[in-house]
Amino acid sequence: MNQTVIIGGGIAGLATAFYLRECGLVDYTLVEQSPHWGGKITSAQQDGFLVEGGPDSFLAQKKIALELCHRLGLDDQLVGSNRGKNSTTYVWSGGRLQPMPEGMMLMAPSMVLPFLRSRLISWPGKMRMGMEMFVPRLPGDQDESLAGFVRRRLGAEILNKIAGPLMGGIHAADPEMLSLKSTFPMFLEMEKKHGSLVRGMMKRPKRTAAHGSSPPPMFVSLRGGLQQLADALVAELPAEALRSGCSVLSVSPQADRYKVALSDGTSILADDVVFATPSYVTAGLVEQIDPRLASMLRAIRYVSTATVSLGFKRSDIQHPLQGAGFIVPRSEGRRITACSWSSEKFAHRAPGDSVLLRVFIGGALAEDLAEQDEPALVRLAREELQTIMGITATPVLAKAYRWHKANPQYDVGHSQRLLEIERCLAEFRGLHLAGAAYRGAGIPDCIQSGMNAARSIVTERTHADAPHQHQHQHSSVCIGT
Ligand SMILES: Cc1cc2nc3c(=O)[nH]c(=O)nc-3n(C[C@H](O)[C@H](O)[C@H](O)COP(=O)(O)OP(=O)(O)OC[C@H]3O[C@@H](n4cnc5c(N)ncnc54)[C@H](O)[C@@H]3O)c2cc1C
Repeated sequence: MNQTVIIGGGIAGLATAFYLRECGLVDYTLVEQSPHWGGKITSAQQDGFLVEGGPDSFLAQKKIALELCHRLGLDDQLVGSNRGKNSTTYVWSGGRLQPMPEGMMLMAPSMVLPFLRSRLISWPGKMRMGMEMFVPRLPGDQDESLAGFVRRRLGAEILNKIAGPLMGGIHAADPEMLSLKSTFPMFLEMEKKHGSLVRGMMKRPKRTAAHGSSPPPMFVSLRGGLQQLADALVAELPAEALRSGCSVLSVSPQADRYKVALSDGTSILADDVVFATPSYVTAGLVEQIDPRLASMLRAIRYVSTATVSLGFKRSDIQHPLQGAGFIVPRSEGRRITACSWSSEKFAHRAPGDSVLLRVFIGGALAEDLAEQDEPALVRLAREELQTIMGITATPVLAKAYRWHKANPQYDVGHSQRLLEIERCLAEFRGLHLAGAAYRGAGIPDCIQSGMNAARSIVTERTHADAPHQHQHQHSSVCIGT
């Protein structure tokens, strides 16, 4: 019987296992080194607070995550991010928190008046932005950094105050190195199609709601935290296929299969291996198969970040907390990159008389700050919140999570590197990559990567079993589109 080994029990590995099972393939083993399923997804309940150590929500626009929740019976557990005034993001600029202009879509305004009225951007900055329609598009299809693109089209002020901290922040990246093509390709497409982002925004179909209701939320989470998603996936998988607390030490070719050596001294002979591990871990594991592939995987950089969740009595906070939180431009010289007002963004995050704030530290531009021990991280977060939000009270909850080399960096040239990796991988039958390092680091992207890995295994098997037509039909439809 054909065997598959999936390495890594984060959301990508769990999704791979789930979609394989959906196709009726259960001859696999999912190996996870820690006792915890979900990888970077980790939610903790404490004293009535719901603390997310890693991701706290996912983009609703990318439907695959919502569809997976639906298939797992989690519909009644979905919680949308708050809308209207409670979704405003602030920017720490010139010693105060200033609201981002209403209608700002990441880097580009979709509404003229709120942008013109905004006190966040200076008049020269607004005028430079107004020139955007006359900036010629770049010929060709070359990759460009986020910083290069925004400076060229919209000016340095939009880069420094909005695009850098917001879009660079999502990837914990240095905007000068982040590939726009691999992270926010829609802006390149807009430039190509309309010759201008401002023109493109005007022509964009509006995000409308069903008649009479408010627009759909931008982000979605689960009532019990995202761990609920990982737990629901685990519950759907065959128990005998799951091996946690056991790591994969190496994968080596053996005849026309792969020998997967485990830390408990056993090994599995596999026809297919899915690497749903960070790419630098995968690099070490494929070294014996192909050192070239290993070195290409190792070239994908990772940076470290940390999150600190602080719970306070609401009566101890003077700030009105009307919004989703704030971002901090690097030029402001502070030690945090952003803060989510978690309890204002999502329901069920804190007891009624309390608030929960989540501070982000580190990333490509300040990695060393994220590598401090947990008490130092909490101290740093409190000092910064005192300066920025005037909070002097002692928190009733303080929890720090360190994420060492956890955020893959999609540097300029990332898409070319992926093509080379895929070309190299194609020389070996039965090897598959999934996870955050390749075609999107968000939860929906990782789920999609798991679905794609499952789909390619099913396709390979059905080609091998070609005479069995009925099985072919079954497997090509079982994983949807
Ligand atoms: C602080 C933070 C906040 C984030 N916030 C968001 C957010 O709000 N929304 C969003 O969409 N995304 C967010 N992300 C990104 C997202 O969480 C990750 O990209 C995603 O969870 C990664 O999933 P994965 O399965 O690729 O990898 P991982 O979750 O890293 O899983 C890989 C697994 O492999 C295991 N492993 C490693 N080596 C071995 C081995 N040798 N043998 C066996 N197992 C091994 C690890 O233990 C781990 O469980 C955030 C990321 C971080 C770090």
